[in-house]
Amino acid sequence: MSEHVDVLIVGAGLSGIGAAHHIQTAFPGKTYAILEARDAMGGTWDLFRYPGVRSDSDMQTLGYRFRPWTEAKAIADGPSILRYVRDTATEAGIDQHIRYHHRVTRASWSSTDARWTVEATHGTETAVLTSSFLLVCSGYYRYDHGYQAELPGIGNFRGQVVHPQQWPENLDYAGKRVVVVGSGATAVTLVPAMAGTAGHVTMLQRSPTYIISLPTEDPIDARFRKLFGTRRAYTLTRWKNVLVSTLIYQLSQHRPRMMRNWIRNMTIRQLPAGYDVDTHFKPVYNPWDQRLCLVPDGDLFRAIRHRQASVATGRIETFTEHGVRLESGEVLAADIVVTATGLQLLALGGIELAVDGHDISLPGTMAYKGMMLSGVPNFAFTIGYTNASWTLKADLVSEYVCRLLGYMDSRGYDQCVPVNDDPRVTERPLLDFAAGYVLRAIDQFPRAGSRAPWRLGMSYLNDLITLRHGKIDDGTMRFSRLAKVRRPARAVPPRLTANPGGDHQLGGAIGLAELTTVAATATTRAARHAPYLAALVHGYHVAFLADAAVMLAASLTALVLPAVS
Ligand SMILES: Cc1cc2nc3c(=O)[nH]c(=O)nc-3n(C[C@H](O)[C@H](O)[C@H](O)COP(=O)(O)OP(=O)(O)OC[C@H]3O[C@@H](n4cnc5c(N)ncnc54)[C@H](O)[C@@H]3O)c2cc1C
Repeated sequence: MSEHVDVLIVGAGLSGIGAAHHIQTAFPGKTYAILEARDAMGGTWDLFRYPGVRSDSDMQTLGYRFRPWTEAKAIADGPSILRYVRDTATEAGIDQHIRYHHRVTRASWSSTDARWTVEATHGTETAVLTSSFLLVCSGYYRYDHGYQAELPGIGNFRGQVVHPQQWPENLDYAGKRVVVVGSGATAVTLVPAMAGTAGHVTMLQRSPTYIISLPTEDPIDARFRKLFGTRRAYTLTRWKNVLVSTLIYQLSQHRPRMMRNWIRNMTIRQLPAGYDVDTHFKPVYNPWDQRLCLVPDGDLFRAIRHRQASVATGRIETFTEHGVRLESGEVLAADIVVTATGLQLLALGGIELAVDGHDISLPGTMAYKGMMLSGVPNFAFTIGYTNASWTLKADLVSEYVCRLLGYMDSRGYDQCVPVNDDPRVTERPLLDFAAGYVLRAIDQFPRAGSRAPWRLGMSYLNDLITLRHGKIDDGTMRFSRLAKVRRPARAVPPRLTANPGGDHQLGGAIGLAELTTVAATATTRAARHAPYLAALVHGYHVAFLADAAVMLAASLTALVLPAVS
């Protein structure tokens, strides 16, 4: 017989470790395991090793809600983030639950047993586990290779071609001419990081991106730390950053021209006098139609000012033996070409899903609250925001899963499944984002819907209400129980009959012995959930007040915005 766990988590990255933390804190009595394809935890932060790899959002919101980011730098380097994830896992004993070298390939749900059967490739074998709930934290892109853009004539090039996702450990670029193809977050990180050492670095972009500069160390956070201590400062700075980023996003949506000018003026101030800003730093789209790139302390602009780096904008005609020629006729000499052309998206880590013997086609499903799938029971996944830090959503997904599991336990439900039977709901793309890497693969992802709870949720403040405080039994989520004779493992008091529409009903008059059984079961359940309830009672009103304050501020912002637009 295969091993059974209550919750099976796929992926030991930032999200998987966070999810495990939430689950074991909320339910110390539940069993769980993490299946991880690689030989290390940390996901993104272990995989990417290119020079200067760092976050492009602040660590107060990329960090977990439950664990303060204590380092002074708000924009952190990859190794520090990896350490943070590892420390979280080790201190909470989560590392003991990770099974490395387990690539999950298939998960099949049986409604008869109310459990998943999960298959994972483990070396030459297939490991099989069963679980009552499946939580997929597999990130959003392929790990084996990045996106290989079509680079005309790249075969002619005699130098070295490197992709940031497979950075050679000892790549020697000292004194060499480097051309970085791309203008996204990876390119704007790599260019200044290589600039001091390389002979010269050119960022070759087809079209410009919005780039804004932020201080590596947040002076307001530093002040908060002095005044209130690390933990309180973390919460305060986190909320400040949520509000500021929400404001920037909302202004970008409502006042794009104002935001374009604001970013443009900041950019001009950091570039040498007379620099051709329009060619190299004036995107054709509006801010936040694609993700804004962030450069800490203006490092990219500094490298340009110091003539260690430059930007070339145009289409590639062909690579030559010694570099690249653009359609404009401009020639860039190169010893090394870095293809920072992006990621290849992959939905749910490539796992095939089946429900009661029927294979699930992901584009045929609709994402419920951006974290569960229509028609797929006891299943959730984590995909973070494109307009804010990933972990803000990841934490909320885990919190919601805990609330959902608690709700089901307290009512004796075995199965929950979101059902879309509202004819007014029409399909939308899951990621409403114009970036090339999203457009290339979005057809393979589940759909979103036109109305709540199927509407694309890219607003942290909205999700805060629905995921942390919203009703679990909202009419869209359907709950059911197994016939009790099939479940000897989880004792259910006799004479309690299943009622598909509501709570347990007493089937008739009950005797003293039965009453005792009911009381014993209730006591066991209460004991199992006591730590969760205590944490809830303790933290709930504080959390709620904080959330209410933020909602008030957000509502005021929303009121003010139309007034100024
Ligand atoms: C270079 C880079 C920088 C980034 N910077 C930021 C940032 O500053 N801010 C931000 O918000 N976001 C950023 N992101 C997005 C980033 O991926 C998330 O912030 C976050 O790290 C995602 O964590 P995750 O655990 O969900 O996914 P991942 O980090 O991708 O981890 C997923 C894990 O699941 C495992 N896995 C996948 N499929 C399977 C399978 N089938 N079976 C078993 N295991 C599987 C993988 O091996 C991996 O360990 C960045 C992404 C990249 C690539």
